Amino acid sequence: MRDEELKTMRKSFQTLFNRRKQLLNDPEIKNLQEKVIEIRKNSINNNEELIQIACQNLKNNDIECYFAKDGNEANDIILKIIKEENNKIKTHSNTKIAKSKSNTLGKISKSKSNTLIRIAKSKSNTLGEIAISKFLASQNIEIIETDLGDRILQLKKTDNKPTHPTGPASHLDVHQIAKIINNALKTKIEANPKAIMKAVKGDVLKKLANCEIGITGANAITCKEGSILLIHNEGNISLLSLMKTHIIVAGIDKFIPSLEDAMSLAKLESVYATGKLTTSYMNIISGPSKTADIEKKLLKNMYGASKIVLIILDNGRSIANSECLICIGCGSCILTCPVYDAVGNEFGFNSYLGGRGIAMASFIEDDELSFKSGLFYCTLCGLCTINCPVSMPTRELIEKIRANSQKQGFYPRSHESIRENIQKKGSPYE
Ligand code: SF4
Repeated sequence: MRDEELKTMRKSFQTLFNRRKQLLNDPEIKNLQEKVIEIRKNSINNNEELIQIACQNLKNNDIECYFAKDGNEANDIILKIIKEENNKIKTHSNTKIAKSKSNTLGKISKSKSNTLIRIAKSKSNTLGEIAISKFLASQNIEIIETDLGDRILQLKKTDNKPTHPTGPASHLDVHQIAKIINNALKTKIEANPKAIMKAVKGDVLKKLANCEIGITGANAITCKEGSILLIHNEGNISLLSLMKTHIIVAGIDKFIPSLEDAMSLAKLESVYATGKLTTSYMNIISGPSKTADIEKKLLKNMYGASKIVLIILDNGRSIANSECLICIGCGSCILTCPVYDAVGNEFGFNSYLGGRGIAMASFIEDDELSFKSGLFYCTLCGLCTINCPVSMPTRELIEKIRANSQKQGFYPRSHESIRENIQKKGSPYE
């Protein structure tokens, strides 16, 4: 990362740090922390059973469930659903053309049916993990990022890795962002946050008018109710959930016993990620849109999605160290990490940033990827664990991965001369 980007990132992180300082010392939040640690531990220990019961209840709620062993399989399932849904839309449009007596209307509908497939997406670490945007772009499908920070990075086109899970563009200042937007949207807006927000919002909403499929991650999936919890501040996930088809991708670690547990988790995540007790929106999805307002007869497809698909992603989680799965994705660990402070998002893997990202890389792919993502950058200071709401033992995980990685030959070559010096002179120095 460039120096000025690191400076802006540090400033953004400091603002968040100050905003949440008082809340973090609240005894109520400390109690909540203990509660969530228990929920996460129990959920991970009983993962298979929870998934089994949840899937039954999700299916009872008309939510389709698929399992994907890795990112490729998840992407293939998503592509298949998109193609099927797009064919249905095309058939529907063509029927409309055949029925229409107006040539003009026929032309409009036909051209609409031939347009590029466009999918609306929300911010999600899991979607970043499977690199869905890159995959769909390779299939000629256009993805529209709806989160403001993600959309800015998407319009930036190059060098656009996020720097924080909930504030992806934290490293860009208002002047850089205005420049990116003006270049991409051919506008002349000032370097002013409100003006930028308005321009991006207008452009995204225009594009969403042609979208029939929304794709999101999930914050939790509840076993008892067969519900999916999504938390957000911008309202974009609400828009996506109103599209004809809503595809949700979530790791097997997202299953927890009940909605009450999900609320506790969401509250803690919000406090640590944003410094607020709650996000602006919490969507609980427990099935496609329906109504029984006429003679109590059930009618499907009112305003919301008529098809909801949940893709349950393993991608190495089932063989991962269970301590790695306790994470709730708040991003707090990178705020105080001295390595992240020095090098930014070069320390981490994809959208999994910092030490935790290094640990994730090892089970999502292998130790070589961990090594390439900065396995040996870590100072083992343990600050990430101290600042983690669920005390994820990142340092211990990194030490274990280093030991394995070293055995496989993935270690900094400079370590060899240090070892030789110790063997010959009893000191690491020349
Ligand atoms: S490891 Fe802890 S601090 Fe880091 S993102 Fe996960 S829950 Fe948050």
